[in-house]
Amino acid sequence: NARGWDLTAPEDLAEIDAARAPQREARFRAGPIVAGQGYDGDGLEILNPADPSDIVGHVVETPAELIEAALEAARPWDASPAERAAVLRRAAALYEENFGLFFALAAREAGKTLPDAVGELREAVDFLRYYASGIAGLERPARGTFACISPWNFPLAIFTGQLSAALAAGNAVIAKPAEQTPLIAAAAVRLLHEAGVPGTALQLLPGRGETVGAALTSDPRIGGVCFTGGTDTAQIINRSMAASLAPSAPLIAETGGLNAMIVDSTALPEQAVRDVLASAFQSAGQRCSALRCLYVQEDIAEDLLEMLEGAMECLRPGNPWDLSTDLGPVIDAEARATIEAHVAKAKDEGRLIHRLKVPATGLFTGPAVLRVSGIEALEREIFGPVLHVATFRAEELDAVIDRINATGYGLTFGLHTRIDDRVQAVVDRVAAGNIYVNRNQIGAVVGSQPFGGEGLSGTGPKAGGPEYLPHFTAPHSPETAA
Ligand code: GLU
Repeated sequence: NARGWDLTAPEDLAEIDAARAPQREARFRAGPIVAGQGYDGDGLEILNPADPSDIVGHVVETPAELIEAALEAARPWDASPAERAAVLRRAAALYEENFGLFFALAAREAGKTLPDAVGELREAVDFLRYYASGIAGLERPARGTFACISPWNFPLAIFTGQLSAALAAGNAVIAKPAEQTPLIAAAAVRLLHEAGVPGTALQLLPGRGETVGAALTSDPRIGGVCFTGGTDTAQIINRSMAASLAPSAPLIAETGGLNAMIVDSTALPEQAVRDVLASAFQSAGQRCSALRCLYVQEDIAEDLLEMLEGAMECLRPGNPWDLSTDLGPVIDAEARATIEAHVAKAKDEGRLIHRLKVPATGLFTGPAVLRVSGIEALEREIFGPVLHVATFRAEELDAVIDRINATGYGLTFGLHTRIDDRVQAVVDRVAAGNIYVNRNQIGAVVGSQPFGGEGLSGTGPKAGGPEYLPHFTAPHSPETAA
């Protein structure tokens, strides 16, 4: 996996600070990149979610005629697998060289703290190298043109993961980055082109899902769609593809979750609290993998919650540019309003257990702990720093797992216990893509923890795992010698 930085070492922090300093006030631009040519024009402002006075840059949304031009220009990447792998590895090296640029954009455009920005870059680099290696043994034809539609919460890592898998397999890619984070996507595409990806194999179409996304997923020239985002949107895409694309065009989707963790009375409380804190509140809870509903055995619930409240008070909310910040803003005003309304309702109902105070300017929302009777009380995923807590009695463990499974989602699940036999029994029963025992439940590592869910959480193939790449190729039976 990619090199990291020691964020407790003054020399590493100084290196990072110096590399990103020139980008503190820079104004970035993103626009359509079609057949290798960039288009500029009147752009919409992109503001820093932590500081509305900081204009990070401008984005030119793709007009209909350039969507058409991109679909016409797209050509599968006509190079040998070994050549494609070499180019993707070169891109990985360019990403690493440009860490200052990426850390600056992750903070200013996406509101990412430094540890999150580091994780984001490393994951992107890992995806490039992992899929470059994976293509070596996979002599299968490409599918054609992939539409890659990526989310703002991993604007570099998931953006890069999708397109690098599709490109490694030899497809053409038309990438539609999230409308909140086009600047970091454009910076990445420029480096991919510099590394040698042809302009007709990788095109960028910034814009909204309702316009650019919808035009792509309903166009018969698209041979497959790779999507990460909400379950509702995946269902819309699925219907759109069914109506207009070839029946064989795959949808590779990673969507939301209602992720639970069970902490029984044998868990080590200090460790459980640390892992709950990271799972629920790191990245301001804006991860698909984040913990939404904690089940604590009732014997230890009071003590555990008291420790959790104390630990929350140690979090430092603030502008992610500051190296000591460990809690940034949420992505936009709409997200903040949804979270605030959810917490306000719980407060009115007397269910607010604890809430951290956060800065008044910028799109901050205080991490909150809410009491619930059980996971079924969560009607939908609240994508932010909100932890719901329920208690259970020892004899209810199996029933709790049944209730978690009954949500229909199945992305991540966490378990804290010291009973060895219980680990396997619970793992066998839980329907979730990624299960973590005695640790936090976020931050899957490319290559060792393939990531993806089941049920309402996705269509299956796990990113960063050996099963992923074949989905970007066409079915093919090799000729066997007689
Ligand atoms: N792979 C990320 C993690 O393990 C989550 C990805 C997502 O939020 O879509 O935390």
